[in-house]
Amino acid sequence: MSKERKGYEAKNAWLEMGEDEREEVFAFNRGYADFLTENKTEREFAGASIEKLRKAGFKNIDEYKELKTGDKVYMVNRSRALMAAVIGQKDLQEGLKIVGSHIDSPRLDLKPNPLYEDGELAMFKTHYYGGVKKYQWVTMPLALHGVVVKEDGSEIELKIGEKEDDPIFFISDVLPHLGKKQMEKKMSEGITGEKLNVVIGSIPVNDEDTKEKVKTALLDYLEKEYDITGEDFVSADLQIVPAFKTRDAGFDRGLLAGYGHDDRVCSYTALEAVLDINDPKYTAVVLLMDREEVGSMGSTGMQSHFFEDQVAEMVNLYYDNYSELLLRRVLQNSKVLSADVNAAYDPDFAEVYAEHNSAYLGKGVVISKYTGSRGKSGASEAGAEFMGEVRSLFNGAGVYWQIAELGKVDEGGGGTIAQFLANYNMDVVDCGPAVMSMHSPYEVVSKADVYHTYLGYSVFLEK
Ligand code: MN
Ligand code: MN
Repeated sequence: MSKERKGYEAKNAWLEMGEDEREEVFAFNRGYADFLTENKTEREFAGASIEKLRKAGFKNIDEYKELKTGDKVYMVNRSRALMAAVIGQKDLQEGLKIVGSHIDSPRLDLKPNPLYEDGELAMFKTHYYGGVKKYQWVTMPLALHGVVVKEDGSEIELKIGEKEDDPIFFISDVLPHLGKKQMEKKMSEGITGEKLNVVIGSIPVNDEDTKEKVKTALLDYLEKEYDITGEDFVSADLQIVPAFKTRDAGFDRGLLAGYGHDDRVCSYTALEAVLDINDPKYTAVVLLMDREEVGSMGSTGMQSHFFEDQVAEMVNLYYDNYSELLLRRVLQNSKVLSADVNAAYDPDFAEVYAEHNSAYLGKGVVISKYTGSRGKSGASEAGAEFMGEVRSLFNGAGVYWQIAELGKVDEGGGGTIAQFLANYNMDVVDCGPAVMSMHSPYEVVSKADVYHTYLGYSVFLEK
């Protein structure tokens, strides 16, 4: 402690952790790991979150006739995004404290007409969603998740490939013996988007007059087992996701490997923070948004009016009166942690990380003053004042935090929902744990960082 520190350097959160805290960190992460394994789509995550919210006494906004200090409320957007709030002590006009994350993750969506037969195999065509390195998705167990809507409006939920005795699905790759030309290609071309076809069946119908015998057998099976017809795929949101469980990684079990840490690690910690809050100073809001991985467009993304509409509803119930001016005041006085992940330093790819400005696994929640690329383009940079406020809050609560850029200048870049919230004239800063192998089917986070992210969001929402 007394050693002279020249400049800022974050400390490893494990170093000064006592036995009790370590047990708490591990217990918190067990809860998170199970939740992540159970919920691999935005619909599943939203559904399970609503269950947790209701258990903790949150009610749908439709169930309230007025909103007052201490009330716990949530709003759902099309089963795929949601917002939860605890009304604070201060007048609503003094602004909201918001932690905003996203619950969609990169994956392979089924095409609207996915089913075909080739080479005595039944297959699904996919269209990848978000920033995917396509070669990472071949030759591993895959699961099918989602919902099919019938013509009468009824819904059929699918989740196949997760239980021990479920079948899994897979995408093939060419054998090395015949892969000479593929291996000479650029990595981005070795496996192309149109080659991401999922094998789903191989047993044909025994009928001479039938042309596509395996596809026919598959359609018969789907109809019998799930009441799904070929045309039903047109009205479906079906996703192919890794069939892995979230598991401890490393001998010391300090890391968690799983699918969808980006950005469900922020979503889970934000949700737990708002669930545990009782008497916040300002109205505490958690946003679990959809479609961040494709630019936040669409009715369930951060660029939609959903958030603003719901704040208007809150204004109306809080003041028993709605005015545009009241809404504008609530928005412009609000403060936001844009809860999204940053890249963890990877010793095998050290060349892309900026020395002195990179995030390390185990050094706590990462604060990112700006994101963007090519000279901070697309970044809603946080000002010095708000950086100072967040730093002071975290230091006061013993939250381990570190500061980082995504990578070296001009190495690449990325964005979050921060810019869209900043457009409301709010103070916004990006803040979430570091992830190794981000956007891969098996991302890795540090348990210490997950826990300190939860602590950071909690103190921000409370004070
Ligand atoms: Mn993200
Ligand atoms: Mn992402």
